[in-house]
Amino acid sequence: MTGRGRVVVAGSANVDLVVDVPRPPRAGETILGGDLRRSPGGKGANQAVAAARAGGADTTFLGTLGDDEPAGLLLASLDGAGVRTDLVEHVSVPTGTAFITVSPGGENTIVVAPGANARLRLGARHGDRIAAADVVLTQLEVPLDVVRAAAAARRPGALLALNAAPSRRLPRDVWDTVDLLIVNEHEAAELAGDTAGPDTLARALRERVPAVVITLGRQGCLVAEGDRAPLHIPGVPVEAVDTTGAGDTFCGALCAALARALPLPEAARLAGAAAALAVTRPGAQAAVPTADEVAAFAA
Ligand code: ATP
Repeated sequence: MTGRGRVVVAGSANVDLVVDVPRPPRAGETILGGDLRRSPGGKGANQAVAAARAGGADTTFLGTLGDDEPAGLLLASLDGAGVRTDLVEHVSVPTGTAFITVSPGGENTIVVAPGANARLRLGARHGDRIAAADVVLTQLEVPLDVVRAAAAARRPGALLALNAAPSRRLPRDVWDTVDLLIVNEHEAAELAGDTAGPDTLARALRERVPAVVITLGRQGCLVAEGDRAPLHIPGVPVEAVDTTGAGDTFCGALCAALARALPLPEAARLAGAAAALAVTRPGAQAAVPTADEVAAFAA
């Protein structure tokens, strides 16, 4: 392990096309919205930016982009945060794109065209980098085989973290490879097949994986590991401006702290501070604070 800790994030990168609307459009309806905003997004890329910038980790992003102009926007944001992008592949399908409408009440609609993200495959060329990582972080906006291959390529003792979002049913063999599951309350309920409260959900999911973090928005998060009762880490009170990407900032910062061998509750406290700072700023990747800002805020 380096002093900074090494994180590999294997996952999606999307260009977010965002338009403010007076209300969500109904089926068959056309409505006029505000000016189009375009910003770098996608869970994998957001989390890589957070691991590098907020968590200070030596971070590699493994993903697939198109051979198109939006790919440049995504690479510039990753590079700007200090993420290693040398293993990013370009394919001849469009870069992943998210079409997002934002209503005044915060009721967003999102359609994702996965595009190049669906082509991500991990193979021999990624092996050395994954094997050098202290933490390998994956999500579910890319094929499930990415999670399997990332788990297989990690070195013994390295942590495989899965942010199981967007939620989908996980086969047994994938459950068996996960060391740390990170989910919000809705994803936890879907995975557990239960509508119980977060404490019960954390205990149920802990039966399946060694450690679980359930994020609870402004309420903070629950951490469950080993035989200990789930521990509530309170949220940091802030004036929220834009919660887009809060979960991704949390995941990236959490894994960066774990790569430095911090205990899970302490890592979750730092990740909560990073995510709280991020919600005070507009955007996803643009809102991610620096490690110095997080340290000052968490002190
Ligand atoms: P999103 O999909 O919006 O990125 P999520 O549903 O995956 O988010 P949340 O549980 O909403 O994840 O948020 C993740 C973490 O971000 C929380 O555990 C908390 O630490 C922090 N957070 C989110 N919203 C707030 C808020 N309003 N105030 C302070 N911290 C927040």
